[in-house]
Amino acid sequence: MKISKLFEPNKTVLSLEVFPPKKESGLGMIYETLHELQGVRPDFVSVTYGAGGNESSNKTLEIAATIKNRYGIEALHHLTCVNNTQKEIQAILKAMKIAKIENVLALRGDFPEDSKGQMQAQDFTYAKDLISEIVVDPSFCVAAACYPEGHISQALDEENYSHLLEKEQAGAEFFISQLFFDNECFYRMVEGARQIGVTKPLVAGIMPILSQAQVQKMIFMCGSSLPSKLIKLIYRYGNDPIELRKASLEYAWQQMDDLIRHGVDGVHLYTMNRSEIAIKTFAHLRKEESSK
Ligand code: FAD
Repeated sequence: MKISKLFEPNKTVLSLEVFPPKKESGLGMIYETLHELQGVRPDFVSVTYGAGGNESSNKTLEIAATIKNRYGIEALHHLTCVNNTQKEIQAILKAMKIAKIENVLALRGDFPEDSKGQMQAQDFTYAKDLISEIVVDPSFCVAAACYPEGHISQALDEENYSHLLEKEQAGAEFFISQLFFDNECFYRMVEGARQIGVTKPLVAGIMPILSQAQVQKMIFMCGSSLPSKLIKLIYRYGNDPIELRKASLEYAWQQMDDLIRHGVDGVHLYTMNRSEIAIKTFAHLRKEESSK
């Protein structure tokens, strides 16, 4: 089923992200998580793809196919293009079709950090080029990324909305956002995107903080800002990882509750492959839903 069909007025689509483990041995853990998640039933599960065709990217299709075919949950296969030729992309799409995967999150991807700017994009420069390539086959449903605070390498704020519109015009049917900690940034992006003519659903990506080190890494990778409430929370529990996780999960839930109250199209949980986070969060969201 095309995920774009899940979006309806007055409904918040609830989904989550997993990533292929670096080691083969980690696959079992992913499946265990998915097994446990059957009870809370996310609307869809997305599976990341390692740009540059590393070993874990080969696992994306296997995991996405298992999610769909064994667990009966719709799967969204991430796919990056910066390091792939058109021929390679076509081969991946063909394999996806055989595995009955029809939903793709089309991304540009990044060059490896150690490439020191030496690498050049191959046949695709931007995500919109990959989107155009995929939508030639109408059986695919294509999603794309959006950035509440702009992409980290983007020079001008206004570009954020025009690039979003370009992706929609190329054929993206919904968007999933970069993680953010301040909902106002997401609401601002939705307003700006709608004003420029973006009409497709915009899904909010939320990542609970697991540790001080993780948040430091994430903010420099994504350019997401930290509200003072969260900085104080990290300061208070910085030396107590268990309490920090508890408090930051509560913070993420407050973010999600507020987003749902605001009627956002969807909320996407970055699980970091932690089943307990996914299960507790979905239990919380389903409880909130039933108490409405
Ligand atoms: P694009 O939309 O192509 O944008 C890339 C840059 O080019 C931006 O700075 C943009 O402003 C600029 N740009 C876009 N169009 C134009 C234009 N016409 N002219 C000039 N400049 C332009 N990475 C992975 O490797 N694997 C994953 O599985 C993965 N999953 C992700 C999931 C989500 C929800 C998000 C938000 C990101 C994900 N990423 C993933 C990271 C992503 O690959 C990087 O953020 C990447 O740098 C940009 O990808 P994009 O698809 O947004 O690129």
